[in-house]
Amino acid sequence: MIIAVDGPTASGKGTISKELAKHYGLPFLDTGLLYRGVGWTVLNQGGDADNPEDALAACMFDALLLDNPALRSEAIGGLASRVSVHPKVRGALHKRQRDFAYQSGGAVLDGRDIGTVIAPDADVKLFVTASTEARAVRRFEEMKRRAEQGSGDPVNFDDILADIVKRDERDQSRSTAPLKPAEDADLLDTTDLTIGDAIQQAIALVDAKISRRGKKGPA
Ligand code: C5P
Repeated sequence: MIIAVDGPTASGKGTISKELAKHYGLPFLDTGLLYRGVGWTVLNQGGDADNPEDALAACMFDALLLDNPALRSEAIGGLASRVSVHPKVRGALHKRQRDFAYQSGGAVLDGRDIGTVIAPDADVKLFVTASTEARAVRRFEEMKRRAEQGSGDPVNFDDILADIVKRDERDQSRSTAPLKPAEDADLLDTTDLTIGDAIQQAIALVDAKISRRGKKGPA
């Protein structure tokens, strides 16, 4: 079973996807981390994130980089969003994501274009959203916690809010694989939900989809 989870930044999709993977015993890929890997590499190669050739050259990074906590910073998230507009970068990361999705036994992937581009025939597609303000509060709390633990820079709420608005705009308006729900996606708005409730609702949506498919029988 392939479960595709898409949505904007800080909507809760990452936590929900990890919990779905645990619940259904499936491997999980956070595809945003791949774009963050490209963003980190372009910075460290002295390249320009807005230059498609520099960004493409940064796609050849070592897989071990994905374990680096520095990838989780706001600054690298912003660079990831900038490199992700280049069709060549999306093309270079496509096979890796597709192979992961279509491995035998299935998988859970979270990102922006999993249900629309990477795995358009996924068994289940969720589009997780939340209001801009709710997402900014969550991201601010997460970054503040990280800074207090010594693994991140001090953050300012207004900067985080502005960054989220900018990233949404860039993700939704790019010409290749823009962020949007697949036509057959189930929507999950987490604005007023605790993360525990959001996970329970996601599991209920997946179970309902499996049971609807089961009743229809094999295609
Ligand atoms: O999900 P995360 O915030 O880690 O993603 C970082 C950036 O990578 C996003 O803002 C988005 O621009 C890009 N991205 C993408 N397609 C994906 C996953 C992430 O364009 N499948």
